[in-house]
Formats: sequence, structure tokens, C-alpha cells
Amino acid sequence: MGEIQALRGTRDILPEEVGYWQKVEATARDILLKAAYREIRTPIFEQTELFERGIGEATDVVGKEMYTFRDRGDRSITLRPEGTAGVVRSLIEHSLYTQGGVQRLWYTGPMFRYERPQAGRQRQFHQLGVEVLGSADPRADVEVIVIATHILQSLGLKNLHLDINSVGNLEDRNAYRQALVDYLTPYKDELDPDSQERLSRNPLRILDSKDKRTQEIAQNAPSILDHLGTYSRQHFDKVQQLLTNLGISYQLNPRLVRGLDYYTHTAFEIQSDDLGAQATVCGGGRYDGLVAQLGGPETPAVGWAIGLERLILLLQKLQEPALPSMDFYIVSRGDAAEAQALVLAQQLRQAGFSVDLDLSGSAFKKQFARADRSGAIACLILGDEEAANHTVKLKWMASKEQSAISQAELLANIEELRSQLSRGWERGARGDRR
Ligand code: ATP
Ligand code: MG
Repeated sequence: MGEIQALRGTRDILPEEVGYWQKVEATARDILLKAAYREIRTPIFEQTELFERGIGEATDVVGKEMYTFRDRGDRSITLRPEGTAGVVRSLIEHSLYTQGGVQRLWYTGPMFRYERPQAGRQRQFHQLGVEVLGSADPRADVEVIVIATHILQSLGLKNLHLDINSVGNLEDRNAYRQALVDYLTPYKDELDPDSQERLSRNPLRILDSKDKRTQEIAQNAPSILDHLGTYSRQHFDKVQQLLTNLGISYQLNPRLVRGLDYYTHTAFEIQSDDLGAQATVCGGGRYDGLVAQLGGPETPAVGWAIGLERLILLLQKLQEPALPSMDFYIVSRGDAAEAQALVLAQQLRQAGFSVDLDLSGSAFKKQFARADRSGAIACLILGDEEAANHTVKLKWMASKEQSAISQAELLANIEELRSQLSRGWERGARGDRR
């Protein structure tokens, strides 16, 4: 029987890479906490109907990409392809909107879409997202945008650009749809097959076709911005003015559209020049109609999702992986020494130090070589002699200075040890570590 491998479109995030993920998660968590966003964790699978109603059957996501199956109770279940539908379901189910005011929520976790895997496109991928529910104010649109840029900038990312557009409200879009169909109909035979089919069903989505000829044709299509009513116009003007106030540069992109009825007003994307074809790191916008669409009260809302794989790809191009920092590496050999070393390791860990204990039982020389590679600041050494006397040898990795000390004394002077470790660090222990 062959070796079992990870499924196509899924991948393992190995320990060397995990440092990047933890950095992204910690950075985002910190920024979101300080902006009064609260984390929400919803199930990874839901009733299929939630996504059919919440994303729309005419979308690629629902039409072609969902992982849907029947469970043993013959229910139709779908692995979530995105986070918003679950968050909104939860908001309604727990009446979070009745707690008054605005709900600021964020989430992160795996999402599932049956797509053709390529760099930055997988079948199991991860998103981090925010949703602000209960505010129709353009300040909410701008707040979520500025938080996304804050997170990306704090991670050191460059060469990013923000595209924004307004898709107006339903009325604006109906007027626009007609203008678009009038423009596209003479080109019908030149459009890609998907777009030809969309011409009657959902013409707005032709604007984000990935086909080259279709894009050329779409280039000269009428702009939705010329079809916005007064409220939509004012809302969008305000968004732009507030972005400018915050020093955030943006480009108007009238082809940035969402084809579904519950999307309203602001749509935006943050793209990177360094990602090739899968350039969109963050996509979002306003969806004032979704909560009602899913059975809740009319609740204006705006949010975004960042694709974490694409973000990590960018981060990897920019910086070396973070090394785990270790205070001590413990080397021991002989029954009594090995038993004492385990106790010592645990005592030091409880005192707050990071400790790597060599479990190999191999010759001292081999253990010392591993201590050198470990990146630890100091090495603790226990052999038969140390075990008999209840002492330990303390060796500073940078200077190679070494001294014998009783184990009791080592543990009795934890604070002294802590400051010695930080001096050992300054003496260049870290510089030797690569
Ligand atoms: P695309 O046009 O690239 O398919 P999308 O419009 O389907 O993107 P959204 O549903 O807006 O994407 O999801 C938000 C973000 O999640 C995307 O901008 C992207 O960074 C990421 N993302 C979407 N699908 C995948 C995937 N299959 N693999 C990895 N990341 C993804
Ligand atoms: Mg997609």
C-alpha cells in the first residue's frame, strides 16, 4: 500500500513556518483588541442552506467550490467556504444585535473551497476577518479599511495598494445593470463562455472575469459610479474624504464589483505587487442586506477577510523565520544524572525559563553539538559526578565560560540567574546562533 499523503490543495504548516503564522495572529489580535473588536469562533461546518442563502447560488463559491456532503442523519452539510455567513448566523441566533449599538467582531480559521490549487490558492486555506454590524456610517467602512492596512503595515508589508469602489444600493444597481447589458450585448460572441451566460443572469460579475478578452471589453464599459443615487454618492464621497484624512492612498476601481443583492456601497481590495496571479490579500465591503437575507432584522454591516496563505507568502519573501528563543539546553548522561536533569528542567520551566532537555542518552560530545545548534543562551551539564554531588555545570554558550554550582543554589537564586541570562544574551549569544 502506498504512502498516505495530504490531500491535493491542502498542506501541512511545518514548525519552521509556524513562527510566521504566530506572528501574524499575535499582531492582528493585538491591533483588533485595541480597536475594541471581539473574537468570535463559529463551527467549521454548517447547514448547506446557510451558504446558499448567505453567499448566493449564482456565485462560483456556492455553484462550484463547496465541500458539501450528507451526514449520517441525511442532512446536507457544507464545510464553510468563508466566515461571514457563520458570523451572521450566530449574530441572529444569539440576538447579539439586541445588545445595543455596534458589534465589532473578528474571526480566524480554516476555510474550504474546491478550487484548482496553485500558489496562494488552496482547497483548505485560512482567513482572518472582521465584521462590523449595526452601523451604516461611512466611518465604519473606513475603520475596517484602516485596520486592515494597520495589520498589514505592522507586519512590514510593502508594495500594497488599495482599490475601492461603490456598488451603490439595489436601485442604483438596477439602473446600472441595464446600462451594462446595453454596452456588452454587441460583444456577446467575444465574451468568455461563463460571461456570456452571466449576461442575462448576473452581468455585473462579468466585470471581474479573469478572461483577457472579456477584461479588454470590460475596460470601456460604463462605470457604476455614474449610476449612483444621491445617498450612495454622498456615502462614497465621505468614505474617500475620511480615507484621505487618514493619509490612506487608494485608487478608484469601477470594475471592482460584487454581484449579489445584499452587497451595498463600499467594495474594496488590497492587492500586492509581489504575488503574481493571486494578488488579492484582503477583500471586503459593505453588505447591508445580508442579515435580513438570513432572517435577522435589517442590520447594516461591513467587513473584510484577509487570505492568510497569501499574507504568509509575502512575509516569507521579506524576512527570515523567527528563531525560537531558548534559555537553557540541558545535557545529561548516566541514570542518576538523567533523572535529576528531568527534575531540574521542570523546575526551571516552572520558574519561567525556556528549557530544552536532551533526551538522547548519547555521548556528551553529540549532546554538546546539539546544544551549540539549539540557540540556547546557556547549557547545563549533569554527569555521574554532578549527580553524586547534586551540582550542575553551567556553561555560557557565547563565551564558553563554565562553572560548577549546586542545583539548590541555582534554583534559590532565580532572579540572579535571570539577569545573568540577559547579560549572556547581550554578550552575543544570539549573534552566534545561525
Ligand atoms: P479570488 O478572486 O482570488 O478567488 P475571492 O474573491 O474568491 O478571491 P474572497 O472570497 O473575497 O476571495 O476571500 C478573501 C480572501 O481570501 C482573498 O482575497 C484571498 O486572499 C483569500 N482566498 C480566497 N480563496 C482562497 C483560496 N482558495 N486559497 C487561498 N486563499 C484564498
Ligand atoms: Mg475565489
